[in-house]
Amino acid sequence: MWIDTHCHFDVSEFDLDRQQVAAQASAVGVEAIAVIGYLAQHWPNLLAVCASIDAPKLLPVLGLHPCYIAEHQSEHLQQLEQYLQQSACIAVGEIGLDTYVAEIKGQALYQKQQDFFSAQLQLAKHYQKPAILHVRKAHADVFRLLRAQKFSQGGIVHAFSGGIEEAKMYAKLGFKLGIGGSLTYPQAKRLHNVVAAMPIESLVIETDAPDMIPQPFRNLDAHHTRNSPAYLPCIAQALADSKQLSLAELAPILWQNSCQALHLSLKSERVNLASHLL
Ligand SMILES: [Zn+2]
Repeated sequence: MWIDTHCHFDVSEFDLDRQQVAAQASAVGVEAIAVIGYLAQHWPNLLAVCASIDAPKLLPVLGLHPCYIAEHQSEHLQQLEQYLQQSACIAVGEIGLDTYVAEIKGQALYQKQQDFFSAQLQLAKHYQKPAILHVRKAHADVFRLLRAQKFSQGGIVHAFSGGIEEAKMYAKLGFKLGIGGSLTYPQAKRLHNVVAAMPIESLVIETDAPDMIPQPFRNLDAHHTRNSPAYLPCIAQALADSKQLSLAELAPILWQNSCQALHLSLKSERVNLASHLL
């Protein structure tokens, strides 16, 4: 019924009970999870995790995250290209620019962020893969680099944090907006305004687990110190409320949006796509 378009299911927070969490996610209707890369040294493990679980279907996405820019080397770009040649991943990500974190926005590192972002966009373009973008306080530069590359594969702007004008610009450039746990936070007014202003066809949902715990699961008890792909329906519900749709109406639309953004032709076991008319 649902696709988690952004989850870090490979990280050690899930090492002790990954199979159990996957079963919980399956039980609440999560049929696929995009598992998003961030550091080259973790890619082999990410691919191994994706191969180790059948349900939900785990979809590997490989890329070099801008927040780890100091650690990326040019040979990591060559490794990424090798994986793309082998069709080991469905998309390139998460890639982008971040000037929110003080340590990585100095001139030299910010230039390196832009160089690695451009190089990865070029690879995504060459291998016709969508891009999963991480963008914080750098939308204008991201627009400039997407245009400079004439990037037309689309993808998802994960954990979208911009305003309405920026949201519209991403839609124009072929990207969906990734909506996550923030939508369940009452104080996230700007995001609520963006969601209200944008057509539902521009949106997809994500957990970003183990980060971004949705409001209902925050500080509950010692077991709720991490986010989980099994909490995805809570984000779907927040989006359904905000768009005044039922979950049954929302599910096929989001399924189609996610498949379009990730270039997938996935069949849902639980969503009747024929039942909805776009
Ligand atoms: Zn992420």
